[in-house]
Amino acid sequence: MVTEELLEITANAQRVIDREDRYGAHNYHPLPVVLEKGEGVFVWDIDGKKYYDFLSAYSAVNQGHCHPKIVGALTEQAQKLTLTSRAFYNNVLGEFEEYATKYFGFDKLLPMNTGAEGVETALKLCRKWAYEKKGLPENQAKIIVCDGNFHGRTTTIVSFSNDPDARNNFGPYTPGFESIPYNDADALEAALKDPNVAGFLVEPIQGEAGVFVPDAGYLTKARELCTANNVLLIADEVQTGIARTGKLLAVHHENVRPDILILGKALSGGVVPVSAVLADDEVMMCIKPGEHGSTFGGNPLSCKVAMAALEVIKDEQLAKNAERLGQLFRSELQKFIDGNELVQLVRGKGLLNAIVINDSPDSKTAWNICLKLASNGLLAKPTHGNIIRFAPPLVMTEEQLMDCLEIITRTISEFSK
Ligand code: PMP
Repeated sequence: MVTEELLEITANAQRVIDREDRYGAHNYHPLPVVLEKGEGVFVWDIDGKKYYDFLSAYSAVNQGHCHPKIVGALTEQAQKLTLTSRAFYNNVLGEFEEYATKYFGFDKLLPMNTGAEGVETALKLCRKWAYEKKGLPENQAKIIVCDGNFHGRTTTIVSFSNDPDARNNFGPYTPGFESIPYNDADALEAALKDPNVAGFLVEPIQGEAGVFVPDAGYLTKARELCTANNVLLIADEVQTGIARTGKLLAVHHENVRPDILILGKALSGGVVPVSAVLADDEVMMCIKPGEHGSTFGGNPLSCKVAMAALEVIKDEQLAKNAERLGQLFRSELQKFIDGNELVQLVRGKGLLNAIVINDSPDSKTAWNICLKLASNGLLAKPTHGNIIRFAPPLVMTEEQLMDCLEIITRTISEFSK
């Protein structure tokens, strides 16, 4: 088997993999590495082998694994109160809401748990606003989305995905969505001619699709078009937000302010699931008691963790670090690619980057490179066949980044031979 030549799987690891295979649903295809410990930019497997984490749990662990400040907030709050439900007030939710709304500059916040729930919340909020403020006729609200989007896995969200794996045989699909090409302001302008459009849901950079960075000016134009047509601009920053792309939010690269902002993943530094939707009163106050919620959303444990996670971003200036190291990463890799046939290009912003392998999307090359990278002590995962995303924790130092570049270039060179 190819795996054995590229990455040794110990008997220890194989036992864990076999058990998961036997008792767990097969809804993922992980790299055959079994992790048991993490600290900062590093993770260790059950045999003690150390790796650089270059995925950061899909950008949830921006602050690094087991950040002491975030884990400290978790353990302190866990001994006091973890969950009350929203049937009662808890003494932390309001503190978090005040902290986060001031941090991101919105009137109000609605707390949820996962990214997909955040997206669902934003869609519901947008529809409510459309009927109650914009005055659209009942059940006619339409939300524009983009081809190649990834917003989560619920039945409604997969209804407007165009990834066959995400979508096929999960119908019937939720109506009310129209997909247009990404990074195409003219397509958006045309779609907005329909008077029943309520919102435009967009990722400032398409992460899962393979780190597609739109042209400069696209988000600015989208903002202008949404404003001109009284349509809500909904930014899904679940993956791009919280310093990942070199700014606190990816929309800040163009000084764009969405009407609805969706956050998740790194909002907790990867410690517990925390997501949130932020908006101003005009939109957020459309939702009344009993119309939306979640048992775990806004629990005091998550709120304390999220505040600590956001503090770490500011205290350690992680946006600045992501911007600086991202530039270095892309320029160093570009030099390497200029003399290498296996890698087509490198793209990204801040520390959300990807390389495209010069092979067909259904080839095994990117997967095999990732096995070899793991063998050489760096964990990354292919997306859409021939693309490898590189997204390390933002607490990385320049020295560590240079070390990683050496591993990546050496591995790909070995592979080219
Ligand atoms: N939106 C975006 C842009 C994402 O990248 C993801 C996850 N990769 C989600 C939403 C869904 O988040 P979750 O897996 O926490 O539901």
